[in-house]
Amino acid sequence: MKDKCGIVGIHSKSKKDVSSLLYYGLYALQHRGQESAGITTFNGIEMKSHIGTGLITDAFKDFDFNFLDGNRGIGHVRYSTTGDSKLENSQPFLTKLNDEYIAIAHNGDIINSASLREELIKEGHEFISDTDSEVLFYLIKKEYEKTNDFILTIEKVIEKIIGSYSIVILINNELYAIRDPAGMKPLAIASNGDQYMIASETVAFDVIGAEYIRDIGAGEIVYFKDNEIKFHKIKFADSVKNAHCVFEYVYFARPDSIIDGRDVYQVRLNIGKQLFKEYKIDADIVIPVPDSSIPAAIGYSRASGIPNVEGLIKNRYVGRTFIMPSQEERTMSVKLKMNPVKSELKGKRIILIDDSIVRGTTSQALIKILKEAGVKEIHMLIGCPPIIAPCYYGISMASKKELVAANNTLPQIKEKLGVETLGYLSIESLVEAVGIPFEEMCLACMNEDYPFLIDS
Ligand code: SF4
Repeated sequence: MKDKCGIVGIHSKSKKDVSSLLYYGLYALQHRGQESAGITTFNGIEMKSHIGTGLITDAFKDFDFNFLDGNRGIGHVRYSTTGDSKLENSQPFLTKLNDEYIAIAHNGDIINSASLREELIKEGHEFISDTDSEVLFYLIKKEYEKTNDFILTIEKVIEKIIGSYSIVILINNELYAIRDPAGMKPLAIASNGDQYMIASETVAFDVIGAEYIRDIGAGEIVYFKDNEIKFHKIKFADSVKNAHCVFEYVYFARPDSIIDGRDVYQVRLNIGKQLFKEYKIDADIVIPVPDSSIPAAIGYSRASGIPNVEGLIKNRYVGRTFIMPSQEERTMSVKLKMNPVKSELKGKRIILIDDSIVRGTTSQALIKILKEAGVKEIHMLIGCPPIIAPCYYGISMASKKELVAANNTLPQIKEKLGVETLGYLSIESLVEAVGIPFEEMCLACMNEDYPFLIDS
């Protein structure tokens, strides 16, 4: 599973250049996208941008940050679900809006972007990329020409788009940050003296020493105009139910982030404790599938008193692996990423904690590796309910026919995996672990209750 992107924005009154701070902020968000990275800044006269493919270190290799001058800017790391990973699709998307520069970076998926794009093309707009950002740009252009007021423009554009999104926009020296009316994608704000930072996750603030203020509310616009911070609530947002993506807590976000006021690490510890409430297993050790399941395994271990052991070591230098067709090759790809600590595993009854199962192929490969390492019994516990439906809100998951839990019963999955126990956390326990009311979360990939219309 992959999230779509990470975004940052900085507005500074006094600091001359912010590009290196944006770079470090993006570095902290690298887990949200590894296909390309980009930064755009405004220096009072012109807007400048640099984008490149790959990890942020590749995209900015030997880059002279003096080029990106200016005390306000935005940045983006990308994983593509709409448009392929070519350089033209990298963000920020920079162009001119009449006489003003405009740069847009966004995280999420605009579900109706195909029909909006078609309409815009019919009206004569010529697209240079396949991205939602360019669709946003033309929608903004159309409205801005009518209203000449940027807040009104955003209100109008948001009425037209359906989906999950967090967006940062730089229009000359004004910076705008927008969170979708359901608050699906995270977005928060921090300050450091007279400098404000916006980011997808709070880990970006920690790296530059900015202090987290709060999450940007669902349907809220935070903007900087005439050097002042301002807030605006989108008019119709109150009528939209919150639908925070639960997977941010389960898997996507870094555990050291705070999302919607919840400490992600604590949520994952809670997931482990909830797993113990539901599955009391007699075993010798608990082992996490690193990295995202480490806190849940600690949680289970603390609750049960069974020692938590590093039974699998992750090779952190393995980047994206290409699609491998056969199960044998997939096993090899998993072996590249995870190696068992045989001395800790041989002859043991293990509780294996993982965050989720999508296709089941990685779990199968992992179980094979653990068996080869000599484990006696495998009791596999999953920190979320079965994934039975695809995500249409910006998470690249799999189609329904590829999802193992959508096409198999629990005993069938258990048999495919070849484990002694297979237990998924219930929806109720997951909701309790997160601490956000059930009706304010999106759990659609687990219960098919999509918070808003999908046009798939
Ligand atoms: S469908 Fe699943 S992954 Fe997608 S937004 Fe909802 S909870 Fe998150």
